[in-house]
Amino acid sequence: MKTRLCVAITEQTTARAVEAVRALPPDVSTVEVRFDYIAEPDVERICRACDREMIATCRPPRQGGRFYGEEPDRLDILRRAAAAGAAFVDLEEDSRHKIGFLALPAGCRLILSSHDFSRTPDDLPSVFARLHSLAPDGAIVKLATKAESIIDAVCMLRDVREFILETGCDAIGLCMGEEGLITRILAPKVGAFLTFASAGQGGESAPGQLPFREMLDLYHFDRIGPRTRVYGVIANPVGHSMSPAIHNAAFAHVGLDAVYLPLKVHAVEPFVPAFRPFDVGGYSVTIPHKEAMVALVDEVEPLVEEIGALNTVVYDGDRAFGYNTDVNAAVGAIREACVQAGWGEDENVLLGQKVLLIGAGGAGRALAHGLKAAGALLTVANRTVERAERLAAEVDAEFVPLDGVDTVEYDILVNTTSVGMSPKVDAMPVPAEILNAGTVVFDAVYNPLETRLLRCAREAGCIVATGFQWFVGQAAAQFELWTQHAAPLEIMADVVRRKLGH
Ligand code: NAP
Repeated sequence: MKTRLCVAITEQTTARAVEAVRALPPDVSTVEVRFDYIAEPDVERICRACDREMIATCRPPRQGGRFYGEEPDRLDILRRAAAAGAAFVDLEEDSRHKIGFLALPAGCRLILSSHDFSRTPDDLPSVFARLHSLAPDGAIVKLATKAESIIDAVCMLRDVREFILETGCDAIGLCMGEEGLITRILAPKVGAFLTFASAGQGGESAPGQLPFREMLDLYHFDRIGPRTRVYGVIANPVGHSMSPAIHNAAFAHVGLDAVYLPLKVHAVEPFVPAFRPFDVGGYSVTIPHKEAMVALVDEVEPLVEEIGALNTVVYDGDRAFGYNTDVNAAVGAIREACVQAGWGEDENVLLGQKVLLIGAGGAGRALAHGLKAAGALLTVANRTVERAERLAAEVDAEFVPLDGVDTVEYDILVNTTSVGMSPKVDAMPVPAEILNAGTVVFDAVYNPLETRLLRCAREAGCIVATGFQWFVGQAAAQFELWTQHAAPLEIMADVVRRKLGH
């Protein structure tokens, strides 16, 4: 059975509900009409207009709905929808004894639903078992709870899959809220009967629903199945991440049965082992988990050992490997610019080059270690002096205060501060006067694609390497580590350009 993608219609008038149903494209097979949102709904007209499978729902406030009328009127709406051709009628667990009143015709199935908008109970299997025992033969069981953390969502995925396998019953198990997102996207992975999406931004019937276009175009929902490999970015916060768009586009382009998810994780220690049974192929790891994740893999590349931070996990059978594609991609972009500058052709082009590195945060540390390993001679400058001193000592580098950068002789200038990043695009991490023709200038900032520093550097006759090259390069390296396929660089770069509005 293919998991349905069901779009919830939450319009407030009959005419608009009819319009909304008609506007849906053919790849949406199922709609849920929320009759409780519609003032005095013309049930028969809506059912006639609906040219696809319909779930009729009319929820009372006690189950999170908006029907404030009398109970007999609510049940009457459902009965009329069933008689007018609805394929499914949703009835809440606490109304189950009223099922006789609905007089469901043959071909109309009951969805027996239960909602908890405040939490996810610890013992989901017993909740599924209770619903199963109350549901009449042939009914679909639906459980929707609020995820307080991603662990709740992982438990829901595990327990709905287990329930379906054990009972053979059709079931829906979803977690609401941002933390529950994976239960919506991975519904086909666990064999759920359907998952819900909104008709568009703002049209959600429950917290955490994604617009159906996002489910189809970003996550390629229609291609997800029980065998799909699962990847994702472990971060907190994660909402701003471009990685799902980049990697899902790359997976689809190469034709891989894989999906990439945003994973808002508070603590990696409980999450990583719990999510492992869902065919996880690997992770991108970012702030604040790059250090903690090192302890959760079996082996790391030497660079990770040295820096104490990784950004990529690759699973191979039972073993997990940690890499830092961040460092290699950034150093690679700088190396390419040095080759362009005519300083050499090979891997050793950075050997003995004098680098002025601005910044001592996460990016600064990664670059400092990577450039040192490539044989460059470093001088570190940073706003917070102690941080720069510490980093300089770590990588055996010189140190200058930020207002002393004009005294430093350099071949390569590397900005790893966030200065110049959108929206403060006019800011410069160093004065333009210190930029010299023929040197290489690298800026870690990738939003905007061309920072003021890079523009000034080009104008001064420098050869530039960009944060954009870094960003795409680290994602491409992750893709190749996970899939052993050449990364579709142009596709990935295009996604980033589009996301940044270029
Ligand atoms: P971080 O750990 O927070 O470090 C921020 C750095 O910027 C610190 O050195 C900080 O100095 C400095 N800084 C911030 N505001 C400043 C100001 N007004 N004046 C002078 N220095 C200032 O951040 P991060 O993770 O290293 O990221 C830094 C930048 O690199 C961000 O723009 C990020 O988007 C970019 N980045 C790009 C990529 C890519 O793939 N292209 C990857 C990683 C990061 P203090 O120590 O004095 O606070």
